Amino acid sequence: MSPNKSYDAVVLGAGVLGLSSALELAEKGLRVVVVARDLPEDLTSTGFASPWAGANWSSFATSEAERRRDTITFRHFERLSKTMPDLVRPADSAYMWNEEGVYGEQWYQDLTPNYRFLKGDELPRGFKHGIGFHTFTLDAPRYLGYLASQVRSRGIPVIRYRVSSLDEAYSLPGIGAVDLVINATGLGARTLLGVEDSLVHPVRGQTVLVKAPHVRKNINHKDAHERPEEKCYIIPRPGPEGHVILGGVQQAGRWDTQPEPDTARRIIERALKACPELSTDGTVEGVEIVSHNVGLRPSREGGIRLELEERVIGNGTDGRLVPHGATGGRGRQVAVVHAYGIGPAGYQSSKGVGEEVADLAVGYVRRRAA
Ligand code: FAD
Repeated sequence: MSPNKSYDAVVLGAGVLGLSSALELAEKGLRVVVVARDLPEDLTSTGFASPWAGANWSSFATSEAERRRDTITFRHFERLSKTMPDLVRPADSAYMWNEEGVYGEQWYQDLTPNYRFLKGDELPRGFKHGIGFHTFTLDAPRYLGYLASQVRSRGIPVIRYRVSSLDEAYSLPGIGAVDLVINATGLGARTLLGVEDSLVHPVRGQTVLVKAPHVRKNINHKDAHERPEEKCYIIPRPGPEGHVILGGVQQAGRWDTQPEPDTARRIIERALKACPELSTDGTVEGVEIVSHNVGLRPSREGGIRLELEERVIGNGTDGRLVPHGATGGRGRQVAVVHAYGIGPAGYQSSKGVGEEVADLAVGYVRRRAA
């Protein structure tokens, strides 16, 4: 930590990963500032993914690292649900399927309470197989607001600013020089100069938010649908409104953010098959629709990029104005911790990702100070 600087690090991005990382960095004693184009209050902005998540903990982890992050976050949600059930609510979850082999045993059978294969009465009508377990559901916009209030209450500024290049972030107006940037820009990492990661791409999600206070169970229908990119999931949200998210689609490479009426109808029809109680009379018309939504998941071929990169910036000028054509400056040694490309798992891995970001950052700061 440099006493000559106001901040040790700039966190670029105020989605769930940027905010979770900022909290963990502050927890480890680093002075941070969050800088982002979209702020946590911009709940109708399709410029970032975080307001549009379901959201629940429903792990797709395949690697050890992903499992560790998801486990840390599951335990974190468990703790939060005890004191803030309107923010994070324990929920029973059922994954159902008919086609043999579509789904099966999951890695988290020893983590999630009451994990079991569903039999007899526990299987909704029309389904042959199922897995049940206890998990947690969140109201994504409310959770984002909670993270932002935690960040601000620790004295961390959250500033609206769009950077065009990674280099800019090391000396922003009003913030001053920093040696460390956390790159939590999600889809922005595709175009941010100095990063320009062409592996980053959107996976479009469309959902329908409905009111159905009596529906309390998470349901996920795993059979293949007539359109492979379309899914069926039902996530009741915590909170007094009785809202339930119905999903959805996973359309890779699509940047359009207008909800499609035909897609919405198919989403509701599929949800009704798995949970007729969503409707007052079993029909699509009997469903009380609150809003139609589209969000772009910040995905990356090969998964999240979570690593420290050491860089040299200002190479040739040493940070001072020099005559045209002069050479020989040493440039500034700086670093970036990349944390983008989490795709469909930003909430359920957020605490684990934040901790890893903070470990990488603290390791760098200590090495530099030594
Ligand atoms: P984002 O939320 O996209 O934030 C990126 C930030 O970077 C923003 O603040 C943006 O303004 C900023 N930024 C970008 N470029 C720049 C720049 N040049 N300068 C300054 N700032 C910049 N996840 C779950 O865990 N569980 C679920 O059930 C779930 N359901 C989902 C359902 C849907 C329909 C969708 C769309 C997503 C779902 N997700 C779910 C995924 C989750 O929403 C994302 O993984 C998560 O929001 C990604 O967060 P992020 O912080 O990485 O990126």
